[in-house]
Amino acid sequence: MPSIVTGIIQDLNRTLIDAASIEARVAEMAEEIERDCAGEVLTVVALMDGSLFFVADLLRKIDLPIRLITLSASSYHGGTSSSGSLRVAWPEGMDLKGQTVLLLDDILDTGLTLSEIRLHLEAQGPRWLRCGVLLSKKRERAREVVAEYVGFEIEDEFVVGYGMDFDGRFRNLPCIGVLKLDA
Ligand code: 5GP
Ligand code: MG
Repeated sequence: MPSIVTGIIQDLNRTLIDAASIEARVAEMAEEIERDCAGEVLTVVALMDGSLFFVADLLRKIDLPIRLITLSASSYHGGTSSSGSLRVAWPEGMDLKGQTVLLLDDILDTGLTLSEIRLHLEAQGPRWLRCGVLLSKKRERAREVVAEYVGFEIEDEFVVGYGMDFDGRFRNLPCIGVLKLDA
């Protein structure tokens, strides 16, 4: 019986990272973060929606007290390349002063999103602030930005799955793949 996921996988040109490799790498990242933040309460600022599955899997593997703040940020507005303008919905009353903060996103691409949000968070005076991304594209950045935790370095291709979409689709793929151009 063909499942829904089998149907979506047919739209992929190829699988880039399979589900087992994602799980193993996310577990390693969790261990590293847990070690670096031992004894602290961690405030996680997660950029939705692309990082949803990554954040859910990662945080469940970190054995520390965690506060989660989600932000909606989008720079793609439906296409397959960054529009260059970022929309962020900042929650009211966010105060990170003196906190141990981990900013999480799905992909580091042009760097626009993380650099802008990182600056905004830094301005609030956290005690400690680091960024983690599941994927980092090997490409020139429009803005210099550091991600201290990187799951995988990938080529500069448009990817979907494991939370990442094309026009609202493909988020529920368990693996990460490259789309067929006609899909
Ligand atoms: P940046 O601001 O670094 O250019 O872009 C980061 C954001 O663009 C990520 O949070 C992600 O939502 C989106 N993005 C970048 N590359 C891709 C991609 O290959 N696939 C998908 N689905 N989103 C991407
Ligand atoms: Mg995003």
